[in-house]
Amino acid sequence: MAKHSFLSGDVIVVATKNGGKVKEFAHALQKLGKTTESLLDYPDIPDIIEDGLTFADNARIKAKTTGDALGIPVLADDSGLRVGLLNGEPGVYSARYAGEGAADSDNNAKLLQELERICGESSEPALEMLADGSRLLSKAQFVCALALYDPASGQFLEAEGTVDGFITDRAHGSGGFGYDPLFWLPAINRGMAELSKDEKQEISHRGDALRRLLPLLEQS
Ligand code: IMP
Repeated sequence: MAKHSFLSGDVIVVATKNGGKVKEFAHALQKLGKTTESLLDYPDIPDIIEDGLTFADNARIKAKTTGDALGIPVLADDSGLRVGLLNGEPGVYSARYAGEGAADSDNNAKLLQELERICGESSEPALEMLADGSRLLSKAQFVCALALYDPASGQFLEAEGTVDGFITDRAHGSGGFGYDPLFWLPAINRGMAELSKDEKQEISHRGDALRRLLPLLEQS
């Protein structure tokens, strides 16, 4: 187990108010014997302004702001969706693609609207049809940047993970959160929202980032 104070406590605070992320971290971190807390447990911490240009910038901002406020190590996740036909958008704006405070359903509706418009204007044929008749509209990639910050040393540990897939023109599955219902995984021929928590952990950008972070923790 790690020698550094990053992992010394039983509790790990994750700097997010996103209930979907909290559930995924709680599921992953309980396997390390850790209890997950989040900003939902610390309502007095003011909203954090995520004005970084990259996922990694925003993860560092969230980890440092929260870690300095609480005086304990904090893990932050900044993540989102890059869509090929949208030149990488919504990217760092994924949570507020349809506007400030947008619900997941609003963001998904806007994504479909944009892609259907672009595909409708294009003379290119649709990428592919799935067995249920739905269409793959664009290549896409989920990205997750993790930053673990220790206010005692001012030190960060960082890792980034990705998963490649496609955006489909209709929802598959009801698990996960965010854009999961529209994200298709060609390697396993299933939608992200059709996966169990363990399967998503295995395949997702967040699982990938965590698997890259853990060895750094062991070495710290
Ligand atoms: P953040 O809280 O600023 O990092 O925004 C993350 C946003 O990216 C979420 O609100 C979702 O819209 C999207 N996102 C991140 N990770 C996932 C995921 O695992 N599944 C689906 N959407 C995700």
